[in-house]
Amino acid sequence: MSFDRTIRHCRQCGHQVEKRIPDDGDTRMRDICPSCDTVHYTNPLNVVGTVPVLNELVLLCKRNIEPRKGKWTLPAGFMELGESTSQGAARETREESGAEFEMLDLFTVMSVPRVGQVHLYYRAQLLHDRFDPGHETQEAQLFSEADIPWDELAFRTVKETLEHFFADRAAGQFKVHAFDID
Ligand code: ZN
Repeated sequence: MSFDRTIRHCRQCGHQVEKRIPDDGDTRMRDICPSCDTVHYTNPLNVVGTVPVLNELVLLCKRNIEPRKGKWTLPAGFMELGESTSQGAARETREESGAEFEMLDLFTVMSVPRVGQVHLYYRAQLLHDRFDPGHETQEAQLFSEADIPWDELAFRTVKETLEHFFADRAAGQFKVHAFDID
């Protein structure tokens, strides 16, 4: 989930933008239009998802799209305008797994400054074990802790979230975990 969000043409007038530090006391390089002076800011994106659970089992989805096609992930994706973090996490879970579930509490908040993203995962309670994955998912499958394909996980944030999930479950209490990933 990493990509270059630099723009080449002004979203206001279409002129080619240039990269420079603005004259207003800003200290960062920005995409600036030399024609209409619009400064195009690029800010971090939120990735929102869930840890869907049924009894002792956790639902993972095998990715059918790049990046990391064929690797396993928790259902997650980019938050859309007009939705809350939990609404986005629920939408991504429905789209990628076709599962029916109840949203539970926020579980992990991970800043990933290297790629300009913040990942937020909620716990979710699955209502049954019938799934209907969308085109982004090859396969949706329940795993016990012992069967988690640790070496085949798509993203570090998924691995970290699962590790915290099993540790908290063993301890008998789920907390919110907020931390940074290099
Ligand atoms: Zn312009």
